[in-house]
Amino acid sequence: MPELFDNHNRRIDYLRVSITDKCNLRCVYCMPEEGLEHLKKHEDILTYEEIKLFVYHAVKQGISKVRLTGGEPLIRKDILDFLKNLSNLPELYDMSLTTNGVLLADFAEDLQKVGLRRINISIDSFDPEKFKRITRVGDLNKVLIGLRRAFEVGFDPVKLNAVILKGINDDLKDFEGFAKLTFEYPVHVRFIEYMPFSKEMGLEMCVPCSEMLKKLNKFGSLEEADSPRGSGPARYMKFKGALGTIGFISPMSNHFCPECNRLRLTADGKLKTCLFSNDEIDVIGPMRDNHPKEAVEEVLKEALKMKPKDHSTAKRNHFVRTMSQIGG
Ligand code: SAM
Ligand code: SF4
Repeated sequence: MPELFDNHNRRIDYLRVSITDKCNLRCVYCMPEEGLEHLKKHEDILTYEEIKLFVYHAVKQGISKVRLTGGEPLIRKDILDFLKNLSNLPELYDMSLTTNGVLLADFAEDLQKVGLRRINISIDSFDPEKFKRITRVGDLNKVLIGLRRAFEVGFDPVKLNAVILKGINDDLKDFEGFAKLTFEYPVHVRFIEYMPFSKEMGLEMCVPCSEMLKKLNKFGSLEEADSPRGSGPARYMKFKGALGTIGFISPMSNHFCPECNRLRLTADGKLKTCLFSNDEIDVIGPMRDNHPKEAVEEVLKEALKMKPKDHSTAKRNHFVRTMSQIGG
């Protein structure tokens, strides 16, 4: 198996692919209320065939894990056919998807049928009012039906992503909802520190994972736990007797740059080497102008050279993309 190493000797084997920058929610920390749909023309977005070719050649170079994300990936037309094609790629060892869960009740069974085994669902609160406040338009009940369905059809692992915002979903009642869920389902709840990508919310909205842990400790004793399959930078713990685990993703308080193994392909065909850097490498142009194999090899080579050592060396005064335009 070929392997990819960047200039800082980190093995790069994980690719996040955003297949759309559109979304059916408007989370306050991710997207402006009016959306960003007007920004891109259809032809500016990578086609499924182009994404598949990129993944195919990237896998030949050493990428072995791919996560599909967005925007909301389940709203892109013909996603099931695309996933089926992708899951047939030889040597793609691991394929997963991150969704807001709004359409999951309808899609869960078919997603399994086309070969998806792992899923991440984003839910920031189990209080319907707060859920609506955070997502602006979301119906919590729909997402909960989707979550249940994910277990019924056999996804394993099911991970739940929760971005915690100061003064919004960081009180004890919120944490109690997440803690309880780990006793009901073998779910891996991952608390994520807010990253200030939104123009509407500053760093003051970020709750450090250490504070989240203090609040969670009120609901039982937490012990260290093994990471679920396909885990990235989260640290995992478990309540005694619980079926699921609790994970912490702390991009703000505790950078995981030395272990960073990822690249991100945006829906408009740019390769990002670091979430905190505005630098990006054009993929869509070279893929349309040249032979895809050579184009992918070239941009990967460039990315390995360009990937910053850590956040402090990433070029950034302000973020030019919202998280929905990167893929998380
Ligand atoms: N729409 C899908 C979803 O919400 O799961 C996939 C795309 S979303 C951009 C991927 C992940 O990024 C979600 O779990 C979301 O909560 C997280 N996210 C978005 N904006 C964020 C921010 N500013 N800070 C931390 N996490 C963020
Ligand atoms: Fe949409 Fe996901 Fe961003 Fe929420 S976090 S607006 S669901 S892309």
